[in-house]
Amino acid sequence: MNTLGNPALILNANYRPLNYYPLSLCSWQDSIKAVFLNRVSVIENYDQEVHSPTVSLKLPSVVALKSYIIPKRKPAFTRFNVFLRDNFTCQYCLNKFLANELTFDHLIPRSLNGKSEWNNVISACTSCNLKKGRRLLKNTDMNLTKMPTRPTSIQLQNNGRNFPPNFLHESWRDYLYWDTELQN
Ligand SMILES: [Zn+2]
Repeated sequence: MNTLGNPALILNANYRPLNYYPLSLCSWQDSIKAVFLNRVSVIENYDQEVHSPTVSLKLPSVVALKSYIIPKRKPAFTRFNVFLRDNFTCQYCLNKFLANELTFDHLIPRSLNGKSEWNNVISACTSCNLKKGRRLLKNTDMNLTKMPTRPTSIQLQNNGRNFPPNFLHESWRDYLYWDTELQN
């Protein structure tokens, strides 16, 4: 059996995904381990089974944690979370990019003691970042449609729903709500 195949979707104890982007998944080995440690309930199964000399078990496709994990109220200030807050969109030209094509831009440049914090950092594509350089926005002909702020975990979670992964097992669909699906 392919060790990368058959991942289980991990739900919180309220049956909501722990995380949308990246989608909270675990390997089938970890999901079976969590079942035996009594940490999760199995909600849905794959057809595939694993066998030991004494037991055979269907691989879980959806598991729910037995104890509820309270989401962090203040999301961590990371590159990924800044990009997710900005929907992987350059805040100057408003085009979408992949994470590895985006950069951090400091509104008040670091050379002028600008801090790396939520309200001073935005996602910018390489060419917009180069164009702005180490200048203050008011000294350029560039515009921002909105000033950056610290997002809530719920806002980041909601933004994550814009990015469904390539692989979605059919048994997961009842537990996931994708914005793209709602638009169709
Ligand atoms: Zn740009």
